[in-house]
Amino acid sequence: MQPFSIVIHGGAGTILKTDMTPELEKAYINGLESSLQKGFSLLEHDGTAIDAVRAAITILEDNILFNAGRGSVFTKKGVQEMDAAIMNGQTLGAGSVTGVRNVMNPIELAYEVMSNSNHVFLSGKGANDFAIKQGLKLMPDDYFFSKFRYDQWKEIRDSDSYSLDHTHQDIAELMKDKKFGTVGAVACDKFGNIAAATSTGGMTNKKYGRIGDSPIIGAGTYANNKTCAISCTGHGEPFIRAVAAHDVSALMEYKGFTLQEAMNQVVHHKLIELEGEGGMIGVDATGNTAMVFNSAGMYRAMKNGFGDHYVGIYKDN
Ligand code: ASP
Repeated sequence: MQPFSIVIHGGAGTILKTDMTPELEKAYINGLESSLQKGFSLLEHDGTAIDAVRAAITILEDNILFNAGRGSVFTKKGVQEMDAAIMNGQTLGAGSVTGVRNVMNPIELAYEVMSNSNHVFLSGKGANDFAIKQGLKLMPDDYFFSKFRYDQWKEIRDSDSYSLDHTHQDIAELMKDKKFGTVGAVACDKFGNIAAATSTGGMTNKKYGRIGDSPIIGAGTYANNKTCAISCTGHGEPFIRAVAAHDVSALMEYKGFTLQEAMNQVVHHKLIELEGEGGMIGVDATGNTAMVFNSAGMYRAMKNGFGDHYVGIYKDN
């Protein structure tokens, strides 16, 4: 049997057991499990890697707990601006969107860009217009509202307005307070094809049309059957500068690294040198999987056709 596997993440950061209630922990685990199972059952029934990552991401986007789709964080202006990307390792086809509003499932929009436009990357109003043209579901602002995220934003919004020159510090504060997160999925199907997808609301209180690594092909998302499919999460700016996802692929292609070795190199060395906190998930075309992070935790889960199944949040489980 050609091995098949799926790995998902729901964001990385300072995620500590001491900050978690048993109820919240259970809700996160259930959210990860339902996404994982959906993607896995598609693969099990001869579905493609691209369809598996789309389906897994859609479930996480619909879950208010995760910073993507419905649970997206607030920007400086108090709205949600979402980013998403998808890539097919068989064809190197890719689609991404940034700064989209009111689109229920930004990953579906990225998929439409990949499949039904002659482009790779659409932004803002143009991306929204394309969503309407493709008949994607739009939702009103209050669908994206959660008291939890609103309170997070209010805290940061106020402090930011008093410390214009402390952007860096503000980001560090966001990281400490776990006010970031993203969802991602990578899969290898029974046909030996791999795919990657990432979706995010970006960072709380982002402004000036800030774009993170998630929708940037090669930075937060990349897939190539020859090497690997990768989805990243963490502080986007260092991941962009490290061209993190593609760097894993390059180490495999040009230096013969295994998936695990290449991800370790990028997450524990290259990103550390750039003070890039976060992690990534990966698969290769023989179904190997890896989940690597340099932060205190990363919401993550994997399952493969050999019966391996894992869900974890913190460093040690
Ligand atoms: N990487 C995302 C960004 O910088 C955030 C995250 O992964 O939580 O927009």
